[in-house]
Amino acid sequence: MEKALQISTISFDGDMTLWDFLKVMRHSLKQTLMELRKHVQTPRASKLTVDEMIAIRDRLAEEVKGEVWSLLEIRRRAFERTLEHVGHPDKDLAAHLNAVYRKHRYGDIELYPDVIPTFDALAPHFKLGLLSNGNTYPENCGLDGRFAFVVFSQDVQVEKPDPKIFQITAERAGCDLTEMLHVGDSLKSDVMGAKNVGAPSVWLNRDRLRNDTDIRPDYEITSLTEIPEIIGIRRKNKTCQ
Ligand SMILES: [Mg+2]
Repeated sequence: MEKALQISTISFDGDMTLWDFLKVMRHSLKQTLMELRKHVQTPRASKLTVDEMIAIRDRLAEEVKGEVWSLLEIRRRAFERTLEHVGHPDKDLAAHLNAVYRKHRYGDIELYPDVIPTFDALAPHFKLGLLSNGNTYPENCGLDGRFAFVVFSQDVQVEKPDPKIFQITAERAGCDLTEMLHVGDSLKSDVMGAKNVGAPSVWLNRDRLRNDTDIRPDYEITSLTEIPEIIGIRRKNKTCQ
């Protein structure tokens, strides 16, 4: 008979699992672009798009990968590049744009509606934590005090799916990896990362995408509200043995 999992701890991914990162990122860049155009009136500034700003940032992030871990610093440098791109290099303005971006990036973030009800249901029974390759700290998104442990790749300088970051997370949680259920939207970063260290995994597939990889999660869900049921079933199995 399959050995039932004994789960004491649940680690959650952040971006696209607890909040819609892409939506708030694009919205924040749009606000920043409007601010940029107040200060810069070159033809290139008037043609600049959010997609171009994303491409400039992503190219820069690739260039400094493994050297610069602070995502806000990468973003600030990306605004410097963006200003160079529109023919108006200006470090002070880049810092100002970064502040505008940050104000919207954190101020306008919205949790998915299933987050709080799920946390309320799980918190009395499990230790909950956050394991993120991003930079939205609990106090920036209305989740202050909700987590027993928090691990950010930019702080520990290793990122999912590297086994090291899962080991650091289990150490901070004070549990064995086999009893830490990891929940995330990325098959590669979250599911494969967890599997590689023997942690049970949940693939959150909000958009019901087809899994055309060979990465197999232990569970697949379309809403976080399914988690208590998954664990409830597991507990029942354990009681039966
Ligand atoms: Mg994610």
